[in-house]
Amino acid sequence: MLPLILRVREAVLNEEPIAYEDALSLADIPSVHIPYLAAVANEVREKFAGNLIESCALSNIKSGNCSEDCKFCAQSGHYKTDSPVYPQITIDEIMEQAKAAEAMGATEFCMVSSGWGAVNEKEFQVVLEAVKRISKETKLFVDCSLGFMTPEQAVELKEAGLYRNNHNLEASRDYFEKICTTHTFQDRVNHVEMVRHYGIHPCSGGILGMGETPKDRIDLAFELKRLEAHCVPINILNPRRGTPLGNVEPLSPLEIIRYIAIYRLILPRSTIKIAGGREVNLRDLQAMAMQAGANGLIIGNYLTTMGRHPAKDIQMLKDLGFEVVDASPRTSRRAHAVTS
Ligand code: SF4
Repeated sequence: MLPLILRVREAVLNEEPIAYEDALSLADIPSVHIPYLAAVANEVREKFAGNLIESCALSNIKSGNCSEDCKFCAQSGHYKTDSPVYPQITIDEIMEQAKAAEAMGATEFCMVSSGWGAVNEKEFQVVLEAVKRISKETKLFVDCSLGFMTPEQAVELKEAGLYRNNHNLEASRDYFEKICTTHTFQDRVNHVEMVRHYGIHPCSGGILGMGETPKDRIDLAFELKRLEAHCVPINILNPRRGTPLGNVEPLSPLEIIRYIAIYRLILPRSTIKIAGGREVNLRDLQAMAMQAGANGLIIGNYLTTMGRHPAKDIQMLKDLGFEVVDASPRTSRRAHAVTS
């Protein structure tokens, strides 16, 4: 198996795309070889994505009561969970959260609204105002995740200064119908293509550990590559009580690291961002995950669960030798973003 890892290393470092069959074979290497795989992915990250970490803070600006039935999601109105339900927060509350995010060392701020057509016109105007004000009043890049947006909304958000739009594919094309029946995988693909068409960087990833096969995970990564996902959040299922996936057996930390590394080899230039579920699933291997090809982290709390203290993450990243942007001018962040 080591010759396979070395062959893939040489190809990817020489800017050749990894072959689908090789990626599938990497999903099968013995776990004792995963540290070698991680080291190669780390080398690829250093070459193509640099050493600067993106740290993103989430704001759940509207929570719960979603019309969709995504089986992993505590915010779906189809399930009875203990997840908070509240209407859209005010512009002042969003600004307060953005400024707190900047103070804790975040480089990006993402407003997330539950629902498929997540915001009505009045709510959209608040998001638009927030994008303008955060761009003007902080050094943060501004992202949003509003479910399904219209092309007109995408254009307005882009003009207001939106950097990325998040719309995860969540799972492979084959597995998607097992985790959602109220919209399709193709609906999600179409949305990612639409925002990219209007000049917004697409942020799209998925969730590991929902009962999918290794092939599903590889297929998802290749779909994200085809879509030129600028940022790929890798979530790891943190089963929520009351959802249909509430009792799913978790992946082992080493298995998660295997796929973070494979995703880097498939997507050498994207930001690979470790997202929800990392603390509970990776436990003491969080630092190893950051040496397996990742170059981004969600810091602070997640949408419906708590994260660990941001200061611990910033310290971990510094200890690993990453460049952490917590006090530098906006221009240097911009320079990194356009080259990654
Ligand atoms: S569309 Fe989003 S908020 Fe709604 S159930 Fe699916 S993941 Fe949850």
